[in-house]
Amino acid sequence: MTVKTILTEPNKLLRQVSQPVAKVGKEEQQLMDDMLETMYSANGIGLAAIQIGIPKRIIVMDLSKENEKKEPRYFVNPIISNKDTLKSTYEEGCLSVPNQFAEIERPKKCDIEYLDYNGEKKILNVEGLLATCIQHEMDHLEGILFIDYLSKLKKSMIIKKLSKIKSPRIVV
Ligand code: ZN
Repeated sequence: MTVKTILTEPNKLLRQVSQPVAKVGKEEQQLMDDMLETMYSANGIGLAAIQIGIPKRIIVMDLSKENEKKEPRYFVNPIISNKDTLKSTYEEGCLSVPNQFAEIERPKKCDIEYLDYNGEKKILNVEGLLATCIQHEMDHLEGILFIDYLSKLKKSMIIKKLSKIKSPRIVV
């Protein structure tokens, strides 16, 4: 397993629409292993393949708490349906938008159809944190970041801040 570099906003690749995976084979499993390792090392709870520059519809996630047993989840080609009209709000952050947080409202429950690590078809009814997290990650597959839900002003302030910290300043 290899820890990869996580792309951060502003980066055009993060705006790319990811493509479905034809089948879950060794290559995809290797990618999921690397994604999980990368996510753990960055202390994240979810990661989409495009965040390490690979435009495939693959997501990894682990919502277990720090001292609990690890509980990795894998979602390949996820499709969302039956979005609840009720909403829930979480303060969201993103490994691709470092150190920025905002309250985002999303459907409280939904169904997810996907392929798991072994390529088996699964359907899951999700709610709460898991529902929010999967919707956040599925946005990545469409090239959408959580800051896109904010006002233009707030969003441009965040991008400006992130652009400034992009290159390290050196004085020699
Ligand atoms: Zn994210």
